[in-house]
Amino acid sequence: MNDDKFACIEGILDAIEVGDRGDSNYMKLAYMEAIEARDRSDVPIGAVLVINNEIICSERNYGETNDDYFSHAENLLIQIYGKEIRNARKGKNIELYTTLEPCFMCFGAIVHNRINRLVYACPDSIAGVTNMDPPTNWYNERWPIIDQGPLKEESYKLMIDFIEKKGWGNVIEAYKSMQIK
Ligand SMILES: [Zn+2]
Repeated sequence: MNDDKFACIEGILDAIEVGDRGDSNYMKLAYMEAIEARDRSDVPIGAVLVINNEIICSERNYGETNDDYFSHAENLLIQIYGKEIRNARKGKNIELYTTLEPCFMCFGAIVHNRINRLVYACPDSIAGVTNMDPPTNWYNERWPIIDQGPLKEESYKLMIDFIEKKGWGNVIEAYKSMQIK
C-alpha cells in the first residue's frame, strides 16, 4: 500500500459512519477498490476485511500489475492482515467482503484463516468455488458462512467491461453466459 491509497481509503472510511455499517457499505468500499484496480488496468476486484463490525482494511487486485496470481485482492488482504485475523479468531466475528466470488486459491486462504463469513457481490461460474462441499470434516469445521451480497450487477459490469476491453476472447463468452440478473 502507498500513501495515496491510505488517503483514499481514509476518505471512504470517513464517509461510512458508525451505526451506518453493514453489508451495503462494506461492499461499497470493496467496489471502490475494484474501480481503483480497473483504473490501473488490473482485473477489477476489491475486498474488505471486517472484524467485529470494524473495517480493518481493504485491498484491490494486483494480479496483472504484479504479473502474479498470488496478488488477488482477497489473498493480499489475508496475507497482510494475517496477524489481526489470528488475534481475532477467539470469539470475534471475522468477515471478508469481495466483489467477485473467490477463486480456489483465495477461498482456500479464507477457510484456512477461519474467516467466519464470506460475502461476495457477483457470482463467478467460471472460477468461483464457493458452492463446493467441504472435502473433509476438518474443512467442514472451518467452513465460513457464505452469502451473496449487494452490488452484484455493478460488479459484474466492471468485470465484463474489463474483459471486453482486454479482448480476452476465451473468457468473454463464458462470462456473458453467466446471465447476471
Ligand atoms: Zn483469488
